[in-house]
Amino acid sequence: TGIYHSLVKLGEQKQIPSRPDLDTATFVLSQFPDSHKSESQIALIDAATNQHVTYAQLHRSIRSLASGLYHALGVRKGDVVFVLSPNSLLYPTICLAVFSVGAVLTTANPLNTQAEIAKQVRDSGAKLAISAPAELHKLVPTGVPTVLTSGKSSNDGLLSIEELIECCDDPLELPQISRAQSDTAAILYSSGTTGTSKGVILTHANFISLVTLLQWSVEVTSSEKDVFLCFIPMFHIYGLAFFALGLFCSGVTTVLMQKFELQIMLDAIQAHKISNIPAVPPVILGLVKYARKEGSDLSCLRRVGSGAAPLSKEVADRFRERFPWVELRQGYGLTESTGAATFFASGREAKARPDSSGVLLPSFCAKVVDTETGKGLPPYRKGELWLKSPTIMKGYLGNVEATTATIDSDGWLKTGDLCYFDEDGYVYIVDRIKELIKHNGYQVAPAELEAILLSHPTILDAAVIPLEDEEAGQIPKAYVVKAAGSELTEDQVIQFVADQVAPYKKVRRVAFTSAIPRSAAGKILRKELVSQRKQQLISK
Ligand code: AMP
Repeated sequence: TGIYHSLVKLGEQKQIPSRPDLDTATFVLSQFPDSHKSESQIALIDAATNQHVTYAQLHRSIRSLASGLYHALGVRKGDVVFVLSPNSLLYPTICLAVFSVGAVLTTANPLNTQAEIAKQVRDSGAKLAISAPAELHKLVPTGVPTVLTSGKSSNDGLLSIEELIECCDDPLELPQISRAQSDTAAILYSSGTTGTSKGVILTHANFISLVTLLQWSVEVTSSEKDVFLCFIPMFHIYGLAFFALGLFCSGVTTVLMQKFELQIMLDAIQAHKISNIPAVPPVILGLVKYARKEGSDLSCLRRVGSGAAPLSKEVADRFRERFPWVELRQGYGLTESTGAATFFASGREAKARPDSSGVLLPSFCAKVVDTETGKGLPPYRKGELWLKSPTIMKGYLGNVEATTATIDSDGWLKTGDLCYFDEDGYVYIVDRIKELIKHNGYQVAPAELEAILLSHPTILDAAVIPLEDEEAGQIPKAYVVKAAGSELTEDQVIQFVADQVAPYKKVRRVAFTSAIPRSAAGKILRKELVSQRKQQLISK
């Protein structure tokens, strides 16, 4: 039938909770270590300050903040709360408090520009924003009432989350809020297979399923004594699902970094005896390249994961050679599937299949579809990966067309990734057939950059494609048709885009051309540009 089922089961003891009125916060909090243990068990440590939070403190601050959001700020069920902050000890508290009052979370990269943020505020219909003080200026023009993550009210006269938690030290009970697993929990942004960024609607059922799967996979592969390092941003589904929700259900300790910096990571590994690092390919490369000669003692490291973008076999081999005691495992997932879809049960299996992203997580089914005929394909044949599971998004916010183009009537999510399965059920992601560019694991939508390029007075047409890059995975390259007589230079094009987008989205190469290949319907034939480029490289 060309359908692949997960070969692993959650087991008799463990099931995805089906209680219809369960929400993510209630579920996650119910999984915290028991009350006696939670007073001493450390949930989070800030790598920069060494400040820590126990599970009991986390529990209290979530209750206090939920009370503050409800009683002091009037946040109600279905209200969208926009969070703009780098990782911090408070980030998980904010997410879980928003869920606790039945509100909807939307998150953004703090590197995004004011215009990008205004667009998301509008699109998501945010009623309240929670902002790191340094990013506040980007929210002010939107007019959305804003609370700061930290700082005192003297700062622009705004209330802070810290103050809300303090003042609701003895939290007022929340009234009965009607809840359903099918309610929207979060709206995260992804460009999907085509076009610009869209709001991915994730329900409580999606998160509860994913968190149960993560909890199970952590039980299979780790122990409560494990210490995790988090630099993966919590505004992205990878960080949100893992570090702001999932890992708390396993009672482990997480050391938090605001953002990735190699030396801080090396210091944190040694200082906190880190055993597990969920990472991304550029970080694996960084470890291989730069953690070489320095006297860093990384003997405590047990497991390193790689996700969000392809990990090259060469880098994986070099990593295993350099750190033979560390299990390197690749995983695959996407925002539209609430993060993770595959996993490796053991480092031995991962080592035996260095190109694979593992097997499907329990409750997942996959189909490998021939992109020409639409037929399901047997093992070793390459086609588009389609996924079905309780973690698949509800759809794209206010975009029926994109939703029906992405999820078919049988509930299959078309991932836009090219893959094959081997006969043992391991999946190999071989290429990306969707438009998406991934720079350091972050999404860059070509359509967004093309729209900006076309707004230039002397650019007649433009197309953006990915260029492979050793460090960042991919970089955006623009093909530009300029008006007759225009003296536009490559640097000017690069600057024109850079002025309008977050730094990770910058166009980094430009080629002037006489025409952009387009289909009869006017669609940019990106594949043609990619193969033209490959052809040029071969003939050089
Ligand atoms: P995002 O929604 O930002 O998480 O991006 C999801 C996309 O990242 C996927 O559709 C893939 O194109 C890519 N991706 C994630 N994990 C992997 C992996 N292990 N190998 C190759 N590509 C990956």
